[in-house]
Amino acid sequence: MSIPFPFSAIVGQHDMKLAIQIVAVDSTVNGILALGDRGTGKSTAVRALADLLPPIKVVKNCPYGCDPKSQGVLCEHCDSLKSGSTASQTQTKPVPVVDLPLGASEDRVIGALDLEKALSLGVKAFSPGLLAKANRGFLYIDEVNLLEDHLVDLLIDVAASGENVVEREGLSVRHPARFVLVGSGNPEEGELRPQLLDRFGLCVEVKTPQELEERILVIKRRDAFEKNPELFQKEWLPANEALRDKILKARKRLDKVIISDDFLRLCSKLCIALGTDGLRAELTLMRATRAYAALEGDKAVEAKHLRVIAPMALCHRLRRDPLDDTGSSARVARALEELAI
Ligand SMILES: [Zn+2]
Repeated sequence: MSIPFPFSAIVGQHDMKLAIQIVAVDSTVNGILALGDRGTGKSTAVRALADLLPPIKVVKNCPYGCDPKSQGVLCEHCDSLKSGSTASQTQTKPVPVVDLPLGASEDRVIGALDLEKALSLGVKAFSPGLLAKANRGFLYIDEVNLLEDHLVDLLIDVAASGENVVEREGLSVRHPARFVLVGSGNPEEGELRPQLLDRFGLCVEVKTPQELEERILVIKRRDAFEKNPELFQKEWLPANEALRDKILKARKRLDKVIISDDFLRLCSKLCIALGTDGLRAELTLMRATRAYAALEGDKAVEAKHLRVIAPMALCHRLRRDPLDDTGSSARVARALEELAI
């Protein structure tokens, strides 16, 4: 396996890096949409984070990487083990990061009948797809705005239920498929449907750095990495380990972070002022600010956390206002100001 670029060595990209850390602390924040230029290292950041996280424990030989401690849905393989004595056998594997290429067929995404086994052995076996591979990890879709509608619908369903159900070709399979969806795209190349936008917890803009010194630093680090990846990785190891430690501590702290009713009132006022549909926006605000406070080592969620998180949790949920052509981040900033948050 090739060495990924160290997360800590990524220059700038503050929002993208923060969003990734937040979903690493609390995966129920439900994914990230990264909008912006090509070649700004969006996939680099996702891959780098997975490398940073500790390996996960899985049931030995389970094709879906089921969690041995799971109380929820298990695959057939693990269900059959539960009553047996081998249920406690576990192994570890790295957090999966699975690419979903634009041209992928539905079979490849959800899994299909294993034709080889069907033809040679005459048995109906299931060949797991990308959703199975991504279970408990990240599913990365570059150019998500160009993804075919039927795949988008499918992903929305699976992301909501955490389960992939396949009923076709005489197969009846259901397996856990919980993953953090990370999509990237350029809005100028195709619009994203509101249903899909709403499914992403956070949305960040990723731009080519405009500052001279930052650009120079990006190039220098990239060059050093490509010349000698092993050495570069070694140099950044302490910084990466410190960050891993920060994420793990935040995960432990998460349940203890206090969220007052006053704070929730603030979130609701903000959402009402911006006219977001439904309650998903508030739920995301609550979860993402809590994860952020946990990362910062704060005991309670406060307005200062909301000011940082609100733009990334709300910008992509605003309806277009024909009488107001202000950009969505400016509208969120204005609402924060008017409510004195
Ligand atoms: Zn399993």
